Amino acid sequence: MSYLQLAHLNRDIKLENGLNIKEYREWRRGYQKRTIYSCKRCGSGEESLYWSACHFCGQECPYCEACLTMGRVRFCSLLLSGGTADNGRLMVEDARQSFGHLENYIKPWGLSEAQTRASLEGLQFITGERGKDRHGLLAKEPRKFLIWAVTGAGKTEMIFPFVHITVANGGRVLIATPRKDVVLELQPRISRAFSDYSVVTLYGGSEQRWEQGQITIATTHQLMRFNEAFDLVIIDEIDAFPYHNNPMLAYAAAKVCKRSGVNILLSATPPKGVRQAAERGHLPHVRVPVRFHKNPLPVPELIAAPSLNKSINTRALPNSLFAKLVASVERGAQLFVFVPNIRLVEPTVDLLRVKLQGGNMLCIEGTSSKDPDRTERVHRFRNRDIRVLVTTTILERGVTVPKSDVFILDADSKLFDEAALVQMAGRAGRSKDDPAGMVYFAAKEITRSQKEAIRQIEKMNRIARKRGYFERGK
Ligand SMILES: [Zn+2]
Ligand SMILES: [Zn+2]
Repeated sequence: MSYLQLAHLNRDIKLENGLNIKEYREWRRGYQKRTIYSCKRCGSGEESLYWSACHFCGQECPYCEACLTMGRVRFCSLLLSGGTADNGRLMVEDARQSFGHLENYIKPWGLSEAQTRASLEGLQFITGERGKDRHGLLAKEPRKFLIWAVTGAGKTEMIFPFVHITVANGGRVLIATPRKDVVLELQPRISRAFSDYSVVTLYGGSEQRWEQGQITIATTHQLMRFNEAFDLVIIDEIDAFPYHNNPMLAYAAAKVCKRSGVNILLSATPPKGVRQAAERGHLPHVRVPVRFHKNPLPVPELIAAPSLNKSINTRALPNSLFAKLVASVERGAQLFVFVPNIRLVEPTVDLLRVKLQGGNMLCIEGTSSKDPDRTERVHRFRNRDIRVLVTTTILERGVTVPKSDVFILDADSKLFDEAALVQMAGRAGRSKDDPAGMVYFAAKEITRSQKEAIRQIEKMNRIARKRGYFERGK
């Protein structure tokens, strides 16, 4: 309590009640008074508030269910929020930002030409002037910059210069990603690259919950712990669950960054709103249209095929699809076979076993979000122990296998939108040793999503070719 008192007297923390109240009069109901509550920690509105008899304040009192896992926020409970002193823009020594100066932050990381260009633009943005509103006052929100990088572009390396320039100038950095395994994978790379700085990882069940680092790597849900604490916030895969359509996390993501700070957004498939803002010039951005190995993205090939249900019922595969599957197996690739929903996984595995296994010992398995052995199966797929893995969009991101081909069955399903198709296609051709993996969309019909996905991939290839990013002859 005495620490809190001291912090309060120093104005380092804010003491508030847990929920916001907004009162207004509704003209449609004869100017009746209406009260709206919302959570100050996670931003959730009325739909997440639960009213109960409260033994603290002795009356009916609402609490927030959305962020309950971090302790109960009640209307009558105390919410402490600390902010870090915000002295305006991070002072980068020699703010004249000559190109030569910024390039010093890029050189150590061995970036490709396309990565260098994106990083340089990002650095110029970070060290640039803070935005002003139309009254000429300093903007109250952190500035945003989008990096629209194709799957396999090597975005981790691209953010190193941003982290570097921020910590070298005394700032704090947060890297947020939707998946815990990405946090665990990033930790050793960042720690090695920035051995002079403290690195903290935060995720459900992590032991560093109360530690502070100059660099924090966290899952998205941990963002609610912070309030205007970072000079640079890098948000990975802004279109992935759990950001997509989740206002709670969007609220938290905006709150964790100091007002004078910078938000860097990363995505291979930005959601429509973000994409439009970028294309219309409202959101500063840079595209990285080429993979780190300087080869074009594999363009999906369309295969006409009956619906998967029909193939399963008749126990038959169309010849066109069968021939491509055999060709992939024979060239020694690992096969990702995507199906639109979980109940199709097992029957598809059975069908492929009958059709493909023949006399040889080809291992064909399936996995989904309901599979308790998913981690182990993915591991066996990576080790080439499993050669054909039937799965759902659960594996559309994250799993990278050196030599792989992608088959998307029932590609005309409503469950596969343009972004999902691009992400799944992005599993092929990731490695330098096998850059030209194959991607197939097998379907009865050609949907708009399939066309748009192909168009998006071809457009990125065209931009890359025009800028001369491909290896000679590609
Ligand atoms: Zn809440
Ligand atoms: Zn109460």
